[in-house]
Amino acid sequence: MIKTIQKNRIALSVPHMSGNEMKYIQEAFNSNWIAPLGSNVDAFEKEMAGFVGANGAVAVNSGTAAIHLALILLNVKKGDTVFCSSLTFVASANPILYEGAEPVFIDSEPETWNMSPNALERAFQEACENNQLPKAVIIVNLFGQSAKMDELALICKRYGVPIIEDSAESLGSAYKGKASGTFGEFGIFSFNGNKIITTSGGGMLVSDNVEALEKARFLITQAKDKAPYYQHSEKGYNYRLSNISAGIGRAQLEVLNSRIAARRNVYQLYEQELGNVPGITFMPELENTFSNRWLTALMIDERVRGVTVRELITALEEENIEARHVWKPMHMQPLFDGCKYYKHNENDNISEQLFRSGLCLPSSSSLTVEEQMRVIVSIWNNSKILLR
Ligand SMILES: *Cc1c(COP(=O)(O)O)cnc(C)c1O
Repeated sequence: MIKTIQKNRIALSVPHMSGNEMKYIQEAFNSNWIAPLGSNVDAFEKEMAGFVGANGAVAVNSGTAAIHLALILLNVKKGDTVFCSSLTFVASANPILYEGAEPVFIDSEPETWNMSPNALERAFQEACENNQLPKAVIIVNLFGQSAKMDELALICKRYGVPIIEDSAESLGSAYKGKASGTFGEFGIFSFNGNKIITTSGGGMLVSDNVEALEKARFLITQAKDKAPYYQHSEKGYNYRLSNISAGIGRAQLEVLNSRIAARRNVYQLYEQELGNVPGITFMPELENTFSNRWLTALMIDERVRGVTVRELITALEEENIEARHVWKPMHMQPLFDGCKYYKHNENDNISEQLFRSGLCLPSSSSLTVEEQMRVIVSIWNNSKILLR
């Protein structure tokens, strides 16, 4: 085994500034709009809505807040149920709990790793029989890959239940030419530090329903009534994005397309060097879809490769390389003990398989080819069976 000497850290996904951020931050300073609201916030909302082709957008201080708002706007209440992809980050499902509603988790299917139309249909059939249709369906686009939107949307439409598209990881991706985030009643994005673009922390709610977005603006600024004093008749939130953060977002949005190109190149090189290795399968890109390839993800068949995902992550860590498991499915989380879960089909539990064998590789848009080759060589060296 070749031991590489300790080198600089290669992280999973790091912020990548364009250099233009300070210009917008300076504008905020010059006008002294160091606050939520302000010209950067207004412009960032318009620019995001324009980018994805939605009627409007509301900037908030996290992607989680955007999901919470979407649930509130869809009138999710205590005792309601909400369907949600199981293979996702906990932020997709936590807001369901905020409203005292109950999540029902839906498995993935193998072609996109995202929500299985089969499982969704079965969940709806049972819900219908029990007279307990969900108030909403949260569909996640994992690592930039679009879910099978046509199939999923058709089912939701048949039962008359609105979709919230969790596009936190898929900004700039498209399904059959239509932008990620525009398939549901609401779409949400995240600008957390590890996402494809960042505002250091922030999120966006997008929709064609401008009335609902107006309501969202009211709710996220403490639900202040139109009155000459501070009067409140509804429960409000402090979810507004700051004008400084929005300034960072504007500069980041300007370079989004080049960040996507860079992440897709990162994927290409991994695929080129590891794609033919027996026992390694990359996350597919569904036909007629375009993935931003936020994270390159693959499956390791431990029977072929002679190494488990956990062992490989540990071995990479010893070489100062950060790789991670794919998300641990929500139905396997202690937090959601007892929640319903619908498998892809009787024999296949896809999200559990993906959790057991899935690996996310360093995928920053600023990753150099040299750094990436270090990751690739390390994977070669740490798979027990001789590769080429
Ligand atoms: C990051 C992420 C979120 C939440 O975004 P925050 O801005 O961190 O609150 C929601 N869903 C998914 C799938 C994510 O990856």
